[in-house]
Amino acid sequence: MSKKKISLTSKVLIGLLLGLITGIIVFQLPNGVVKDKILIDGVFQLVGQMFLRAIMMLVVPLVFVSLVNGAASMGDVKKLGRVGVKTVGFYLTTTALAVIIALILGFFLKPGVGLDMSAIETVDPIINEKVPLIQILYEMVPRNPIAAMAEGNMLQIIVFAILTGVGLSLLGKKAELLIKLFDNLNDLIMKLVEIVMKFAPIGVFGLIARTFATVGYTGLLPLIKYILTVYLGLIIHMFFIYGGLLKGLTNLSPMKFYKKFFPAMSVAFSTASSNATVPVSLEIAEKELGISKNIASFTIPLGATINMDGTAIMQGIAVFFIAQVYGYELTTGMMLTVILTATLASIGTAGVPGAGTIMLSMVLQSIGLPLEGIGLIMGIDRLVDMGRTVTNITGDAVCTAVIAKQEGELNMEVANS
Ligand code: ASP
Repeated sequence: MSKKKISLTSKVLIGLLLGLITGIIVFQLPNGVVKDKILIDGVFQLVGQMFLRAIMMLVVPLVFVSLVNGAASMGDVKKLGRVGVKTVGFYLTTTALAVIIALILGFFLKPGVGLDMSAIETVDPIINEKVPLIQILYEMVPRNPIAAMAEGNMLQIIVFAILTGVGLSLLGKKAELLIKLFDNLNDLIMKLVEIVMKFAPIGVFGLIARTFATVGYTGLLPLIKYILTVYLGLIIHMFFIYGGLLKGLTNLSPMKFYKKFFPAMSVAFSTASSNATVPVSLEIAEKELGISKNIASFTIPLGATINMDGTAIMQGIAVFFIAQVYGYELTTGMMLTVILTATLASIGTAGVPGAGTIMLSMVLQSIGLPLEGIGLIMGIDRLVDMGRTVTNITGDAVCTAVIAKQEGELNMEVANS
């Protein structure tokens, strides 16, 4: 079993590296039928999109079914509430820490100082309409659960699924048949995830090759300091904060944890979407990391929706970058506002490509920085998005392991295997 999984991890790694190399080589080719039609929009697009769509196809049914199943088998509404409060608290705390790390790096490394603006292709920024927090909260309750599923509105699906699960557990014996049905459905969808993941190496190859064959390298060089600062922030956060939490609160080896979780990280990196990664994260959490279904099925989809530590790191560094480019001084008060708004913004950021950059407008607005600044980093945002999405979903898994440990629902034997 674990032998087979290690081989999937290595295959995904090979797919990722081959995709990277192939993409960079294809980028150098002259434009024409072979490069554009046969490779980029042909082969790469075909295998990449087939994999992406197959995994996306499973997100809504999986989140719904596994969460109903998890909530029904938790059997205790009080426990559900306790886990919920702890999870949200944990997610918000790690996100606030992420912004703090980002601000420290932005302050000391000065990514925006000495920037040659004329070398950058600016893109018109997409500005986010400010949504009041109250609205985010009440819109979590779906008016129509079918519409919520059709739109893939994760928070609404979560609310409906938990209610259904709680209802089933309260009905108890009377709902035996339905509980069993959800249990079977869950097995079926997990099987489908396993099948789709067999195509992950080639899918990841296609997605990465296409991204690197089309990405705008011209805008890369002047922004290299910004990009590297963000990546440094992501690494520090994953190493110290997640590593410390894993070691300190679960007694698991962070290296082993990351190795097992690698296929999910690769999917996050190649799709730049937390939502698309939910099925893989769940599969690994339950089968490889020894986390019980009723904890993982709740905390992983919730994390994919509200926990965005990588995004918060990008936003903190982007704030400094933009302030430095436009010559603004950031006061302590402004930095505190950034910590607050970036942490709250992560709740409202959807787990799809580019969402964090759109939400950045909210953070900039809160301290009066020019929104055009977003246009400076939009051209290369995909490269940053890939990395921050890896941190986003890793944070969900780390939190899940910590909560599971505290609730006595972490099988240490499986986790250490
Ligand atoms: N792409 C990120 C995610 O799905 C969100 C972002 O744009 O920062 O987690």
